[in-house]
Amino acid sequence: MNASELRKLFPILDQEINGHPLVYLDSAATSQKPIPVLEAMKAYYEHDNANVHRGVHTLGSRATDAYEGAREKVAAFLNARHTEEIIFTRGTTTAINLVAASYARSVCREGDEIVITPLEHHSNLIPWQQAAKATGATLKYIPLQPDGTIRLEDVEATITPNTKMVAVTYVSNVMAAINPVKEIAAIAHKNGAKILVDGAQSTPHMKVDVQELDCDFYAFSGHKMCAPTGIGCLYGKKELLERMEPVEFGGEMIDHVGLYDSTWKELPWRFEGGTPIIAGAIGLGAAIDFLKDIGMDEIERHEHALAGYAYDRLSAIDGLAVYGPREGRSGLITFNLGDIHPHDVATVLDAEGVAVRAGHHCCQPLMRWLEVTATARASFYLYNTEEDVDRLTAALVKTKEYFGYGIG
Ligand code: PLP
Repeated sequence: MNASELRKLFPILDQEINGHPLVYLDSAATSQKPIPVLEAMKAYYEHDNANVHRGVHTLGSRATDAYEGAREKVAAFLNARHTEEIIFTRGTTTAINLVAASYARSVCREGDEIVITPLEHHSNLIPWQQAAKATGATLKYIPLQPDGTIRLEDVEATITPNTKMVAVTYVSNVMAAINPVKEIAAIAHKNGAKILVDGAQSTPHMKVDVQELDCDFYAFSGHKMCAPTGIGCLYGKKELLERMEPVEFGGEMIDHVGLYDSTWKELPWRFEGGTPIIAGAIGLGAAIDFLKDIGMDEIERHEHALAGYAYDRLSAIDGLAVYGPREGRSGLITFNLGDIHPHDVATVLDAEGVAVRAGHHCCQPLMRWLEVTATARASFYLYNTEEDVDRLTAALVKTKEYFGYGIG
């Protein structure tokens, strides 16, 4: 894999910011989009645009084929057993909310437990808080090690026969740690619980096999993996999805509608009320083709090497604190530079053309656990190079100088 060649397929990267060539290090927030994805969506709007599952006309059936074809691509990408186990959603947040509002509320009672971790993004935390409040279930947390990792003995001690639902992120969007979700799934199942995996930060960066993980639900967002915003997926085991009630009602999801009662379509359409995100799904299908052509193992290898390089270069800057483990991490690096507020760090970096994220990263409980109010985060993708890391390092040294810290 040649990142320098690949980045030519991302037109947005070829620009100057504040007089410097752009270094985009915010792909964990959203990735950039390559030409094949942009072209697939343009071609759809120029040639095939119509509503799906409705018209008998040619454009309608072309649009339906393209939309359902994208679902087949997602199913193959995740190695789902059945295509109808893939529900298109707006993203990870909507997918998790669907499971929390439908599955969790129907199975949880007072005395039951929902188990999560302090690592979770608000999207994989608040829906469970709400489900616990609505059902009387207790929300429990698997404790973290000082480097933000999870020990299986703590998982064993937290999940009990009263646990109905476990929800855990595969990769932390702050600590970068890759969690042992396959082992956590086995412990959940041994106790009779179901597990949802938040795949927002794993799906773009590594090979995912939902059958191998044996997770019951898996959620991800297209926009973090070269696809447009507004499209994502929920994978669910067929036998569980079949037992779940929809949470959005209206057109497209019904079978028979009476004046006082209605019935629902079969899977997956019963969970896709209203006109679906057709162009988004087509863009996601094109993004999957693009990523598969490069190879998920190659992408993972490239980012792993880049993250290791960045970890070492940034750790060498005097006064810079890096969070998360040195090993077993994905391609992002979260840090603070002395007591300079991360918003100030990100502002100086932006003046140097380097785009990083600063803030609580939608992880307020984790920020309190880290005893910080915020952090800065640089996140890498297939188009980033060691040169980008060098630019980041040089800009951070300049930031120290700017704030009067001297050069470390
Ligand atoms: N979970 C994790 C770990 C994330 O990093 C994000 C987004 O940053 C989400 C969930 C939410 O994703 P979205 O906003 O696309 O629904």
